[in-house]
Amino acid sequence: VLELDGIAKRFGSEDVIGNLSLSVRDGEILTLLGPSGCGKTTTLRLIAGLEKPNAGQVRLQNEPVAGDGRFVPPEERGVGVVFQDFALFPHLTARENVAFGLQDWADADRESRVDDLLELVGLADHGEDYPDELSGGQQQRIALARSLAPEPEMLLLDEPFSNLDVDLRVEMREEVRRIIKETGVTAVSVTHDQEEALSISDRVAVMNDGDIEQIDTPQQVFQQPESRFVAGFLGHAS
Ligand code: ATP
Repeated sequence: VLELDGIAKRFGSEDVIGNLSLSVRDGEILTLLGPSGCGKTTTLRLIAGLEKPNAGQVRLQNEPVAGDGRFVPPEERGVGVVFQDFALFPHLTARENVAFGLQDWADADRESRVDDLLELVGLADHGEDYPDELSGGQQQRIALARSLAPEPEMLLLDEPFSNLDVDLRVEMREEVRRIIKETGVTAVSVTHDQEEALSISDRVAVMNDGDIEQIDTPQQVFQQPESRFVAGFLGHAS
């Protein structure tokens, strides 16, 4: 679904991404895991089209969307993003938030799509609530439903649980994984939290200093770290 090929990104004189290559498989949940400042969010923004690479190519469905003189803007990439703070529109109801990306749809199709999504995220009874009437977990469910509404090819999640308190975080990890798997959408998530990476991902890419150190299933990454950095970051350093 997605390939990053030899991507480099500089901000001023700082090389944030070195020479990063990555391929994401159809229907998987891949998590970029690494310490603060290693370039996870920048990688997500490059995929979304919110940043342009200085070198390398981004391909979605085998089509180049960035690099070699091409640049497809974010709204044409078929990619949904769930932001860290959920970014719901406060003046719109839950229902209207979910419908936001469906303005071009026929009314009946839009309404039935929104009904299906509210059902999927377990909030069929909360469509008329405003964001400030919803709990943190419910707001996250609505943010997820809104991103999934236009049937994106890919879903990107930037530190999706960091705004939730600890108990809710554990519950929502399972819920978010369930919802993503039910839709079958391919997802890339970003976190510095190893438990989160372990619980929601099919594969984990451990990042260090703008590059990928290891990419494997959560079990392999945790049980067979391939470098000192991965072992140290995951707390297995001897
Ligand atoms: P965090 O978990 O703290 O968000 P991260 O791994 O997601 O970390 P990035 O946000 O990708 O890291 O940032 C990587 C580096 O790039 C940091 O040193 C950051 O200061 C720098 N950076 C990111 N965006 C910009 C920007 N727009 N302009 C200048 N520097 C930036």
